Amino acid sequence: MAVSDHVDFNGFMDGVKRRNAYQPEFVQAVQEVAEDIFDFIADKEDYHEQQILRRIAEPDRVMSFRVCWEDDKGNIRVQRGWRVQNNNAIGPYKGGIRFHPSVTESVLKFLAFEQTFKNALTGLPMGGGKGGANFNPKGKSEREIMRFCQSFMTELYRHIGADVDVPAGDIGVGGREIGFMFGQYKRITNQFTGVLTGKGLEFGGSLIRPEATGYGAVYFMSNMLTAKGDSIEGKSAVISGSGNVATHAAEKIVQLGGKPLTMSDSGGFIHDPDGLTQEKINWIKQLKNERRGRISEYADEFKGATFHEGNTPWNVDCDLALPCATQNELLGDDARALVANGCIAVSEGANMPSDLEAVHVFKDAKIMFAPGKAANAGGVAVSGLEMSQNSERRSWSEDELQQMLKDIMSGIHERCLTYGDMGGGYVDYVKGANIAGFKKVADAMLAFGVV
Ligand code: NDP
Repeated sequence: MAVSDHVDFNGFMDGVKRRNAYQPEFVQAVQEVAEDIFDFIADKEDYHEQQILRRIAEPDRVMSFRVCWEDDKGNIRVQRGWRVQNNNAIGPYKGGIRFHPSVTESVLKFLAFEQTFKNALTGLPMGGGKGGANFNPKGKSEREIMRFCQSFMTELYRHIGADVDVPAGDIGVGGREIGFMFGQYKRITNQFTGVLTGKGLEFGGSLIRPEATGYGAVYFMSNMLTAKGDSIEGKSAVISGSGNVATHAAEKIVQLGGKPLTMSDSGGFIHDPDGLTQEKINWIKQLKNERRGRISEYADEFKGATFHEGNTPWNVDCDLALPCATQNELLGDDARALVANGCIAVSEGANMPSDLEAVHVFKDAKIMFAPGKAANAGGVAVSGLEMSQNSERRSWSEDELQQMLKDIMSGIHERCLTYGDMGGGYVDYVKGANIAGFKKVADAMLAFGVV
């Protein structure tokens, strides 16, 4: 086919929109990647002939299933569960499970698509997948959560396996839920294998897995600053979320001499001008993980802190920003406010927290902007290391794993530079991450022929 015959960007996106009607998050994720990939593949005949972009934008398969469970009052409840197996060109499907009322097929397809490139960027042999259910764990008793997890796994177990598809946690799925699901998998299959990651240390889990995503996002921030001869020391940071990723990002910012100013949840954000300390972060972890409380309680506990109901923290003056809550939580106006207020670097702890307009604002302003697929890959990387430890039936020490995480984040930073260094001191990390992740998966797909 002559290069001039190739479908243009708008034609490609029209097709994606047509085939995925009513799936805006998935279309958004494909567009973000395709914007960078189109230029890269313009003169690469193999990719065009083999329809690689078209094939990558179509999940290998999507399983949707009914999940019935009984609540504490004896009512039968019905939820919908999914597993999206997006692409296993470079390794078994790998990606988290999300329990949240906002979960839809579109959200999981976008997450599985992003996960494919993220996993490739880590340098580890993992394909991309994602799963979840529109189940709201908030306000549920421990027994209700257990029954839901067991029912979810009773269907999911037939689709996964240590060499097939290895799920992990995500929003609403932490160590407790992974424990319930692993217990049910083991009970049904009578097999003790590394089929899930994020497990407890007593049954095959890895040290530093809970910390890895947040720490990794800060290591990536540190790598970007170091490349400019700068560091986190003395810098203020605005962070959203107050879950696993956000609290560990705040912790690492403190360890590296920075000052986190905010945390949030779906009710609003707290602003502590004195900065969060390790002690305050420990208090938030306990509030969220044990008391299942709301971030607003922070302002009652710590003098000088204020709670801003229904708002996001992006208007607070800062040097650094780490969106660590959820997708599309940072919009165009938020990005403009951050840039106007002097923010020099953004590292996405969450998946696709910045919408397309916000990404364009950061790119136009040429500030350092690390997309989630690069910045938050530390979590899945340590999950990959958990898989290796399970296969070898051994455990590495915390020091070894900390070093591996740091090295992996530096490796991702380097891979982004390969395709994202635009000269003049500006690195387009979005482009760098998209092309490096795409190329590895695409080249493996080329080797397999048309499958
Ligand atoms: P958690 O469930 O531990 O925490 C999620 C946090 O985000 C909570 O504070 C929650 O508040 C908040 N949040 C959720 N939805 C919204 C919303 N619509 N508006 C405002 N705040 C919201 O999840 P994680 O910390 O694990 O995950 C956070 C993000 O990081 C997600 O995008 C996830 O995909 C991504 N990620 C996570 C990884 C991991 O290892 N855990 C790995 C890579 C990416 P509330 O309690 O009010 O819901």
